[in-house]
Amino acid sequence: MNDTFGRRIDYLRISVTDRCNERCLYCMPEGYCGWAQKKDHLSADEILRVVESATGIGFRKFRVTGGEPLIRKDIIEVLRRIWALPGVETLGLSTNGTRLAAFAPAIKQAGVRSLNVSLDALDPDLYRRITGGEVCGVLEGIEAARRQNFEIIKLNCVLMRGINESEYLPLIRFAAERGWPLRFIELMPLSHADVLDESNFLSVQELMRHLEKEGGLLPLPDYRVGHGPARYYDYEMPGLAAPAKLGFIGALTTPHFCETCNKLRLTADGKLRPCLGHAGEIDLLAPLRMGADPVGLLRAAIANKPENHEFLENYQPGRPMTAIGG
Ligand code: SAM
Ligand code: SF4
Repeated sequence: MNDTFGRRIDYLRISVTDRCNERCLYCMPEGYCGWAQKKDHLSADEILRVVESATGIGFRKFRVTGGEPLIRKDIIEVLRRIWALPGVETLGLSTNGTRLAAFAPAIKQAGVRSLNVSLDALDPDLYRRITGGEVCGVLEGIEAARRQNFEIIKLNCVLMRGINESEYLPLIRFAAERGWPLRFIELMPLSHADVLDESNFLSVQELMRHLEKEGGLLPLPDYRVGHGPARYYDYEMPGLAAPAKLGFIGALTTPHFCETCNKLRLTADGKLRPCLGHAGEIDLLAPLRMGADPVGLLRAAIANKPENHEFLENYQPGRPMTAIGG
């Protein structure tokens, strides 16, 4: 289905929980405990009903996220049942990697094709400072995922001036050695954490200028990995056997960033969110539990998609990223 700006909307990002076992500076405000009630979380059956309806109006790409999706108890069942539905062409999972060591084989078997793993730092102390967690378990998880030969594995790193700048080159090396793309994501104002403010914002353009001092960036205008908004480049730098594939997601500074948007979000508590950077949501949970067909609500959410996000216009997220779903 197309939205009012002619964009084809065929990608649903499904948050299966607002809870997480980490506490990233940019995602979850300190002391946050605004968790949805368990009874307000969509059940596996309810998620499946929404996905089935979505395939009926042309959705083909699905990604499961959170919070941390791997802490949901029935996550493998949810993944397996989504993948089994006719019309589902791709299934991805976004994770912080902390539980991948145990789950990688089951995730692969359930049908996940594409895995996104967040990795903002390799240095253990810095990783702990950013996420509250331990990087060694994540690295074990990444290794377990590598052994499963997923079609696509991408690493994601959020740019934070003054916090993880020292990690960008080591992360590029780490990803390139494994032949995986690394995506750098501009910090979005999605949490009211005091520890991060505008002074921590680093644009993708500034990072690119910095990287060009160390090596060469070659734009790959036709290259895509998965269905996200990243713009890709080859990066040649001394010591790399082959160029690294780098993706840049500059939601705040890239001109025309929203022109190619193809997605809707479903939150764990059953709201359809047409845009991450726009507080409007449509409730699906109550109508669904009263027997309504989700198709009308999916259509309404598509019709409500704004042309652009409002991150630069005194945007108020309404709720933090962990509750929206990344
Ligand atoms: N827990 C999983 C993870 O960390 O990958 C999945 C959910 S997380 C919300 C999805 C993605 O959103 C992660 O790559 C994370 O780095 C990113 N993210 C969260 N808050 C962000 C923010 N304020 N600005 C930019 N990216 C953010
Ligand atoms: Fe958890 Fe992912 Fe948010 Fe970090 S970014 S707090 S790992 S949901």
